[in-house]
Amino acid sequence: MPQIAAYAAQRSDQPLVPHTIERRIPNAHDIAIDIRYCGVCHSDLHTARNEWRDTLYPCVPGHEIIGTVVSIGKSVTKFKVGDTVGVGCMVGSCGHCHSCQAGEENYCEQGFTLTYNSKDSNHSHTFGGYSTHIVVNEQFVLSIAHQNNLAAIAPLLCAGITMYSPLRHWHVDSTKKVGIVGLGGLGHMGVKLAHAMGAHVVLFTTSPNKASEARNLGADEVVISKDPKQMNSHAASLNFIINTVAVPHDLDPYLSLLKKNGTLCLVGVPPEPHPMPHTFSLISKRRAIAGSLIGGVKETQEMLDFCAKHNIVSDIETIPMKDINVAYERMLKSDVKYRFVIDMQTLRDEK
Ligand code: NAP
Ligand code: ZN
Repeated sequence: MPQIAAYAAQRSDQPLVPHTIERRIPNAHDIAIDIRYCGVCHSDLHTARNEWRDTLYPCVPGHEIIGTVVSIGKSVTKFKVGDTVGVGCMVGSCGHCHSCQAGEENYCEQGFTLTYNSKDSNHSHTFGGYSTHIVVNEQFVLSIAHQNNLAAIAPLLCAGITMYSPLRHWHVDSTKKVGIVGLGGLGHMGVKLAHAMGAHVVLFTTSPNKASEARNLGADEVVISKDPKQMNSHAASLNFIINTVAVPHDLDPYLSLLKKNGTLCLVGVPPEPHPMPHTFSLISKRRAIAGSLIGGVKETQEMLDFCAKHNIVSDIETIPMKDINVAYERMLKSDVKYRFVIDMQTLRDEK
């Protein structure tokens, strides 16, 4: 088995450190990929620190992967050596259930295989993109049409699809007023995508210093969510809100912003639950709370093609692999505009 350089959390209370992992030899349907860039998702931090209480150690996070195909299995038809490809949050699913048949592997009824932190038939568990090389079944590999700015494409593989999927599912278009809560990795993609779909976009942020940039990203209006006056000025006016915040908070102020039949879609996954909203916030205008989990492979490809067509990439800060622990601390302070991306050449150079 090839030995691959990686960074791993060995325990929940320890920083990530250099680590060596094994990758399987590609089988007939596998693609072997040299990783060039990997985005840093807040889920990586939640998992490395066992905040969801399900982490398998050692934990090699990373599920926003862009790389180059270096070899293919003998039955691979979709890709060839030299192609630029992407891998997102999933690397396997049952393939047979109703959801998989519908192209929604992200809702696989047997449970899909996460790119990292899932049980794996070949290893004890899967290892993600904070590594120089990965082997993935071709069904879970995405084609990348962009030729330039590849580091800024990486975050589309999780942040992009996690926002695109609910925007499509709830039929966001130019007739809709849409709220995005939190201008982080997910939130800034939500602003860009909802704007490109023609919606009137209102960004809700706790960070006044992000207001002018949010407008440049595509927000029509910016609301400082800590200011009740600003919040009230949008009461009962939005069709749909996506909430990306990664800490528990009161949802009632956001529910009160929805029109009749409006939906508040939660995508942020705090370690502890949000306080239960007041029933009155829901019944008074038949409002709903929903959730959404990444997106299927087909929809991820559709999102990548949509982004290529509309010239949408992520706003990123590129970091060397060794700075990952600093990046986690900065992410917790909302001090990133708006996604860290690791240049994996820096890990190769550590040898
Ligand atoms: P992120 O870059 O850290 O962004 C989160 C944003 O939330 C921050 O930038 C900040 O925006 C806001 N925020 C932070 N602390 C806050 C607080 N105390 N009160 C209110 N707002 C606060 O994180 P991310 O990578 O976008 O991920 C966000 C969440 O989504 C994480 O829980 C992650 O695990 C989850 N996630 C879910 C899925 C899914 O499929 N459902 C996929 C990927 C990630 P402002 O400064 O603008 O307020
Ligand atoms: Zn993610």
